[in-house]
Amino acid sequence: MDTEEREMAEDVKEGFRNDHVSYSRVDMYRQCPKRFRLKYIDGDGGKTDTDATRFGTACHRALEEEFGRFVLTGEGGSPDAARLKDGFAKAFADEGLTDQDLFMTGMGVMERFAAAHGSVAPGQVVGVELPFRLELGRHTVVGFIDRLDRIGPGEYVVTDYKTNRQPYETEELETSMQLSLYDWAVRKMFPDAEVVHLRYWMLRMGYVQMAPERDAATLERHMEYFRTLCDGTEGGEYPARVNGLCAWCDSCSVCREFQDLCRGDSTPLKTYGDGTQPDAVAAILEEREVMAAVERYGKKRKEAADSYLKEAVKCCPEGESIHGGGRKAVLIRRTTVKHGAQDVFDILSANGVPVVDLLGKVLSVKNTDLNGYISKKLVPDLGRMKAMEIEAELDSRATTSTSLSVSVVEDA
Ligand code: SF4
Repeated sequence: MDTEEREMAEDVKEGFRNDHVSYSRVDMYRQCPKRFRLKYIDGDGGKTDTDATRFGTACHRALEEEFGRFVLTGEGGSPDAARLKDGFAKAFADEGLTDQDLFMTGMGVMERFAAAHGSVAPGQVVGVELPFRLELGRHTVVGFIDRLDRIGPGEYVVTDYKTNRQPYETEELETSMQLSLYDWAVRKMFPDAEVVHLRYWMLRMGYVQMAPERDAATLERHMEYFRTLCDGTEGGEYPARVNGLCAWCDSCSVCREFQDLCRGDSTPLKTYGDGTQPDAVAAILEEREVMAAVERYGKKRKEAADSYLKEAVKCCPEGESIHGGGRKAVLIRRTTVKHGAQDVFDILSANGVPVVDLLGKVLSVKNTDLNGYISKKLVPDLGRMKAMEIEAELDSRATTSTSLSVSVVEDA
């Protein structure tokens, strides 16, 4: 950190008080202190709403409305698929969403949710979007619990709805600060709470992931960590933690460290050593993750620049282009020609050319498509044995090629 930044950071330390802390604020600080600073202190964090976050909001609203009914009436029953889909459609429109795929996904989510969810007992659902406002050290922690059920004397279930595409790893469930915070909040608000079950309802996947229950000692440690992070948000240093998610960070366009990387002004790592030691491997993996974010961001920026230039050139009089800095932008027309398969077959056949000649030269069939065709069409039509014979014959003539690619996954 240079002197100027350190002085600015000291000003922040003097001036900033994070009076009302929420899980999302603290989690942002945990992932990247600089992002927290840019968003909540400098107010330079850009826009946070994306189609993905609006989609999440629409799903939450539909579920809130449906289970809000049980809270209001105190009655039991099962969530209704038709009402859930209506609720989602209304929220989708209210959120200003237009993407057809997202709409279909949401409708599927609501159907699967209703099918997978059992019946709730009368009075079971205690609250939806249940607000809390509780003191933790010198901080006031505020938040909302998606849904809280009481399933027996002193026994509660916290549900948090997620629209993630990936399920959580076991370790993430064990250490989830969000679920620990909700557990703590339930125990504060409902002194009779003896057992608090914690679960993420994975909406896209249509199943529940239960987190291990927190014993008193674990919960205390998690909350101590949370409180420490709350204090840290008011600290003087907000280092940038460049990571694989930077391309999606609201502040990436104003984050100096990330922009330096995008311009190639600095390289996070100079050498990999001999590349086999754990430290070197860790360094290579880290650089790969960061560079993947730089690549994603670069692609988005290039698309944005192309789109701007295209519109600008279109506004020029015919044949002219826009110029600047010794460069100019021109429009190039690229034409792609496609022939309808039926037309090709008809015309070749009509002219006495055997269609099979063409098929042999220009077509290949992907293994996944062929397997789908075999299981959906040949097995029902010809029987499993015959279909397997055909599949074996086809496999014996298939050409196989192998290439190596790297995939980096979490190391358990
Ligand atoms: S771009 Fe990356 S390093 Fe910069 S503020 Fe965002 S998350 Fe942090």
